[in-house]
Amino acid sequence: MSIYLENAASTPLLPEVLEFYTQQMAKFYGNPHADNDYSRDCRKVITKAEQQVKAAVNAPKETNVLWTSGGTECINTVLFGIDWQQGNEIISTSLEHPTTMNPLKQLSEQGVIVHTLSVDKTGRFSLDELKSLLNDKTKLVSIMSLQNEIGVINDLLGVRKVLEDEKSSAYFHTDNVQGFGKLKLDWQKCKFDFMSTSGHKFHAPNSCGALIYNSKIKLKPLMYGGGQQGGLRPGTQDPAAISGYGFTAELNSKLKESKAEQTRKLNKACREGLVQLTDGRGKALQVIFHSDEECSPYILSFSIKGYQGAIIMRFLSSMGIHVGVGSACSADSKLPNKTLTAMGVPKDTAFGALRISFGWQNTLDEIENFLEKLQEVIKSY
Ligand code: PLP
Repeated sequence: MSIYLENAASTPLLPEVLEFYTQQMAKFYGNPHADNDYSRDCRKVITKAEQQVKAAVNAPKETNVLWTSGGTECINTVLFGIDWQQGNEIISTSLEHPTTMNPLKQLSEQGVIVHTLSVDKTGRFSLDELKSLLNDKTKLVSIMSLQNEIGVINDLLGVRKVLEDEKSSAYFHTDNVQGFGKLKLDWQKCKFDFMSTSGHKFHAPNSCGALIYNSKIKLKPLMYGGGQQGGLRPGTQDPAAISGYGFTAELNSKLKESKAEQTRKLNKACREGLVQLTDGRGKALQVIFHSDEECSPYILSFSIKGYQGAIIMRFLSSMGIHVGVGSACSADSKLPNKTLTAMGVPKDTAFGALRISFGWQNTLDEIENFLEKLQEVIKSY
């Protein structure tokens, strides 16, 4: 038996995506950048995928799609591709993924001024603080849509309103890696300039990402090579993965409401089960939820007072149940969880954190099973 509750780290391909993707791999092996019938067919499926990805977030015709290896590359392309000569300030938040935080550290060493919005104890930043930091040197506002460890959904419409009220010409980027295929995020309402997305987070092919961007903005490439993708991301594209990406984006648009409903049920069952757990002497445990009820149903972060998250995670893993302790990218860290510390969670509680992240394949039976096994672990802890 194996139960996978680490979907914020990576999702399995949906069965229909696997079937479609496998067919595409067999058919579209040509080089899309050559000049023969195979290439032309490959280009057609890539163009279709671009339309599907743009349609999923209501991005207008004037946007382009840059195919990349995933979210990290999309975000780095934006952060290092922008011309920082005119306007050298950026505003971001303290809960961004390391794939934004670490490039920001590099940029700061290169002279870019990085402002980080603080968050309150629920993990939310304030639009007033954003307003106070905006000025005519602000070149970019980069804020994630859905936080990967606690599931906070950021108010990106609110961000756009502040930019408009302040008559700011700053570019607006969202790391929509966790939100794509789940959130109802409308490009035209938020008037984004850049949106980063990644296949392995929404049941699409892995190692494939799409940066949707305002075609009027000139970006500098991260790599140099052949002239593919207008020279912005040289290298031969993978038409099958890209086609699978577009296919999944379209499928998710159709299913996301009903799947969110299903996920809310799993999340509720999990919350209700967790507060009923008892210790070895039958005494109720103290469960501290870091994800509140307004968070995305896909992510549930909590600590059990007096218990270490990493130890519970390993016990569960030995029983075939896979959960996380926070971001998969920093799971080995010996430091307390940075996201929770930024929210003001005390160190010992932050060390106790566990993250359950749900996918479309999960069932209520699996949640019941997880809770039973967690109870066993706690009793023998
Ligand atoms: N942004 C967020 C919010 C993420 O959760 C992740 C991955 O965990 C990334 C960016 C990086 O994406 P990728 O793993 O596709 O490079």
